[in-house]
Amino acid sequence: MRHRTSDLDRIVVVGGGRAAVAAVEELERLGFTGAVTVLAGEPHSPYHRPACSKGLLTGQRHGDVRLSTAAPARWLTGRVAAELDARRQIVYAQTGEMYEYDALVVATGASPVVPDGWPAGEPGLHFLHGIDDALGLAADLRRARRVAVVGAGLTGCEAAHVVRSMARECVMIDSNAQVMTRAVGSVTGGLIADTMRHEGVRMRLGRRVGHLSRSRRGWRLDLDDGSHVDADVVIATLGERPDTGWFTARHADTGDGLLCDESLRVQGVDRVVAAGAVARWPNAWYADQPGRVDQWIAAMEQGQAAARTLLSGSRAAPAAAVLPRYWSDLFGLRIQVIGRLDQAEEVAVSELRPGRRDIARGGVLAAHRRGGVTTGVVAVNAPRQFTTLARAMREAGAAARPVVSLPAVVPNQRRLSLVG
Ligand SMILES: Cc1cc2nc3c(=O)[nH]c(=O)nc-3n(C[C@H](O)[C@H](O)[C@H](O)COP(=O)(O)OP(=O)(O)OC[C@H]3O[C@@H](n4cnc5c(N)ncnc54)[C@H](O)[C@@H]3O)c2cc1C
Repeated sequence: MRHRTSDLDRIVVVGGGRAAVAAVEELERLGFTGAVTVLAGEPHSPYHRPACSKGLLTGQRHGDVRLSTAAPARWLTGRVAAELDARRQIVYAQTGEMYEYDALVVATGASPVVPDGWPAGEPGLHFLHGIDDALGLAADLRRARRVAVVGAGLTGCEAAHVVRSMARECVMIDSNAQVMTRAVGSVTGGLIADTMRHEGVRMRLGRRVGHLSRSRRGWRLDLDDGSHVDADVVIATLGERPDTGWFTARHADTGDGLLCDESLRVQGVDRVVAAGAVARWPNAWYADQPGRVDQWIAAMEQGQAAARTLLSGSRAAPAAAVLPRYWSDLFGLRIQVIGRLDQAEEVAVSELRPGRRDIARGGVLAAHRRGGVTTGVVAVNAPRQFTTLARAMREAGAAARPVVSLPAVVPNQRRLSLVG
């Protein structure tokens, strides 16, 4: 099947991350033979972004984490889209060039949140997001004695793991009472925080940084309880905001990502689809309100889905159904998550080896439920049980019957109500 048609010869992709690469590959797989141009803002060819809080901090280089870009396309790195003329179907780059399109894929991802007054770019202060941030931080960590990690999400905890593995002092600060609250829920987050304390991370949870200033030896962080933390290096991982500043189409809704329909068509703008962390869409897996999924596998699946939508022509485009999932290794814990954890009414937690002091290390499964239905599962050091549950969840979801029974998998179950 060939897709070179008179009205769809030139596809422009703005981005250059996981979603963009997946879209380009899928266009090739579907037989599109027109011209594909990728405007990639970063000066590097595409790479594995999750490595920025892992291997790139401990010696990996760009060549070790590069993504293949074998699919035919004109890759223009260091080309930042600055403006869109949606009526004339033109993207303008910061460098002044213009790129006309018959169809546009928006895959610009998200950028790190920088609090007002924090001097981004100053030596020793790192907003961990891209490969340049990671390599700069890796160099600073070699010289550091004490590191403050502000923000105890997945990225912050992975960074703390690297800091401790290098035998540097580590202080972690977050306004939440537990770590990784959004990523694993507060119950499992509490267990992971306990393990991190055992591993020497000094926790300042439930505290905000009120003021950040330069000191003689590095940085001084004043907390909202009147105390302060001194550090040579500060790693800030305070969340991300979708990159939509350049998307100047009048009728698009850009609040927390580009609003799309279930097939990832950007609403209010013709011939434009979005994919990855920038897209807010009603995920067909859940028949849900529009939302974003900022995860690596999801970005890949959305990139593929967006390409399918573009090439569906006059046929109905398939809905993009993405089951969120990711994993991480930190402090001897293998953490695996599938599904959605938000909006849970209760969390059923099972310890695999009850009685152990370090509960997380002994193995834990947490099923997040709403209305008797399991919407998400978190496993810590429970890979076999996770595989069983994840398979059941995928199969039940595919049959529009998302029910998973936890007791069938794990005997030692205690049920906790979700707090916070
Ligand atoms: C440090 C870190 C660790 C992570 N670890 C994990 C993990 O372990 N597991 C997991 O599932 N997820 C992880 N994530 C999240 C995951 O990397 C993202 O969900 C995924 O990269 C999103 O892909 P994307 O293509 O939508 O966006 P991105 O990967 O952000 O790529 C978007 C690209 O578009 C470019 N761009 C932005 N604006 C413009 C413009 N105007 N013009 C041209 N180009 C532009 C950006 O520079 C960027 O290169 C991590 C994220 C970070 C930052």
